[in-house]
Amino acid sequence: MSVPLRQQIRVGGYVVKQKLRGNKRYPLVLMLEPLFRCNLACPGCGKIDYPEPILNRRLSVQECIDAAEECGAPVVSIPGGEPLIHKEMDTIVNELLKRKFYVYLCTNALLLRKKLHLFTPSPYLTFSIHLDGLKEDHDRAVDQKGVFDTAVAAIKEARDKGFRVNVNATLFNNAEAPKVAEFMDYVSTLGVEGVTVSPGYAYERAPDQEHFLNREQTKNLFRDLFRLGKGKKWGFSQSSLFLDFLAGNQEYYCTPWSNPTRNIFGWQRPCYLLNEGYAKSYKELMEETEWASYGTGNYEKCANCMVHCGYEGTAVEDAIRNPLKALWVRMRGVKTEGPMAPEIPLENQRRAEYAFEKLVSEFDAAEKAKKANGQGGSPSAQGAAAAKAAGNGVDAEREARQVG
Ligand code: SF4
Repeated sequence: MSVPLRQQIRVGGYVVKQKLRGNKRYPLVLMLEPLFRCNLACPGCGKIDYPEPILNRRLSVQECIDAAEECGAPVVSIPGGEPLIHKEMDTIVNELLKRKFYVYLCTNALLLRKKLHLFTPSPYLTFSIHLDGLKEDHDRAVDQKGVFDTAVAAIKEARDKGFRVNVNATLFNNAEAPKVAEFMDYVSTLGVEGVTVSPGYAYERAPDQEHFLNREQTKNLFRDLFRLGKGKKWGFSQSSLFLDFLAGNQEYYCTPWSNPTRNIFGWQRPCYLLNEGYAKSYKELMEETEWASYGTGNYEKCANCMVHCGYEGTAVEDAIRNPLKALWVRMRGVKTEGPMAPEIPLENQRRAEYAFEKLVSEFDAAEKAKKANGQGGSPSAQGAAAAKAAGNGVDAEREARQVG
């Protein structure tokens, strides 16, 4: 696997410490979403369907540092939106690196070459670049021609300059195993550390609702893919047991607290994918979220989810408890034949609830109340307003749309 040994040892030590302290729920990766604004509009993404005032908001540098320190997870993943639109992203990353967090900056790479000089190569920093397939498939997935070529050029430049680079790929039900295998072969030639591959989550706000995988399709697709990969040196940035889970060999239950999410609204309940409300602090998120209400088998919106932000933590926990099992899968490869592990029954799952409109109108009301009180919004709102005035909002989006 392609996670550096130093990072594996640090994360392993951290998990052991949590166990010794008797912590049943602990975070492994903080999902730090400093903005929702993106310079692409991918049909399978449910993250950017917000009104302009929300898209123009940013987390401040201090809010990002506070979130990382409050949470304490050894790894900080920065998705979005497109993080490189944030004018202070280099400062956020550098401050996190100073504090020895492992940072994964997830980007579509449209702005990466332009901004690379703002960053310094470090074993703690990885650019995780979005590629959903080879040229034709990726440009279709992001609904814009030329993005694949731009991303590959950015990967090459970042590698030449000594940066660690990872590729993150999301698969939908139009993915064909031989084409994904071809993509994996190609990515292996780019000198990247590895690939994070995940089935797309069925976002309720995504424009394209037709192409999400169900769990059976996911398992069969990954079995087909891993069969094609036997004997090849594909590097995955995920644990061997999580890959085994994707291929239907593990009956895992979601542990959403392992990847808590902080964004402009607060600490998102229950995970990066679902937006069911917010806690004001990390402590409140952990202590007051009704965790048993979420996960496959518990909640309709979780029925088809097999995404790493819910299940990689479960796989890591399993590896710590059963190291020989993890070693066996690592040495022998993922099983691609024979019966699959039992599927989680869905009969007792609770019905979906829809909180999006309420959340947006509450945000709106809070902003109006602040204006009426002469407060002019939170520090991050003020920062975003200032940044927008300086060209960091819609103007930056326009600029970023100029591919290449
Ligand atoms: S199964 Fe877990 S990770 Fe997936 S949407 Fe539900 S709570 Fe989130």
